[in-house]
Amino acid sequence: MEKEIYKKIKENEIIILARHIGPDPDALGSTIGLKDIIKATFPKKEVFVIGASTSKFKYIGNVDKVDKSIFKDALLIVCDTPDLKRIDGVNDISDFKDVIKIDHHPEIDQFGSIRWVDDTKSSVCQMIMELIYNTKLKMTKYAAEKLFMGLVSDTNRFLFYYTTADTMRIVSKMIDDTHINFTALYDDLYRRPLSEIRLQGYMYQNLIVTENGLGYIKLTDEIIRSFDVDPASSGNLVNNFNNIDEVLVWVTFSEDVKQDQIRVNVRSRGPIINKVLERHNGGGHKYASGARIKTFEEMESIINDLDEVCLNYKKENKIK
Ligand code: AMP
Repeated sequence: MEKEIYKKIKENEIIILARHIGPDPDALGSTIGLKDIIKATFPKKEVFVIGASTSKFKYIGNVDKVDKSIFKDALLIVCDTPDLKRIDGVNDISDFKDVIKIDHHPEIDQFGSIRWVDDTKSSVCQMIMELIYNTKLKMTKYAAEKLFMGLVSDTNRFLFYYTTADTMRIVSKMIDDTHINFTALYDDLYRRPLSEIRLQGYMYQNLIVTENGLGYIKLTDEIIRSFDVDPASSGNLVNNFNNIDEVLVWVTFSEDVKQDQIRVNVRSRGPIINKVLERHNGGGHKYASGARIKTFEEMESIINDLDEVCLNYKKENKIK
């Protein structure tokens, strides 16, 4: 698969890299890193990263302004995006000459002349590292930093179950080859404003936990504003609720008045949750999913569905 992707990259003079809307470090690191790698290997190629820019992750790198008239002559590589409707900056993939999909989510839409989809991989950044080391693409220090940040973020510092010996081996090789100062990169990834830490304290205090092991919290616009944070940062705090004895699945609902939606961020340490979110206009991985909903009534329905998933999981696994 990697060899086929390399061949397509070699054959095309214009390459556009895209990822999902509301990007995270894996989506940004994989596209921004791959751009640098393609440019280092083939300096004459025109390579662009598209999608909205994000101020939160500006330390990962910038996106490009692209004239859509070049789409018809370009190879589009879509990273970290299982469904067509969530590709940022692309309305119709048939606008492009050719399309490759590289993703580690369970497959939703099958698109692209080459689809490298493997939901056992820790991150798309890991897949890009594999692409480089299994072909003649050249690793760069700049790309290695981006790929490291994406992988570390998606695995929550090598904590999640899809971190494997292969993950460790390839990261170790990349660090050996490029000498990135990886401990310094943690500062950008994990330093946070006091306002966010205070909100986290509020969330710990006010998390509601059901008998079946579902933890949830509703963050209205008023609460979010009182801590002087934005709805995206409150959603990002969901990762800090791991390892609570009484909680199997946990979910944050953050009201986003500007976008007229409620952001739903869900994590699990056992029950499979993505099917529930798929029923509510969302999706994701088995143990990390999300959705955008319109009303707090729908929130109640998600709470009920997730609670049932917890109950069934407890029954199946004879957990008291
Ligand atoms: P998040 O809580 O935003 O970090 O999202 C966790 C996972 O859920 C990611 O892998 C996303 O791809 C997926 N996800 C989040 N929001 C949505 C959505 N609106 N639709 C489909 N998948 C989503």
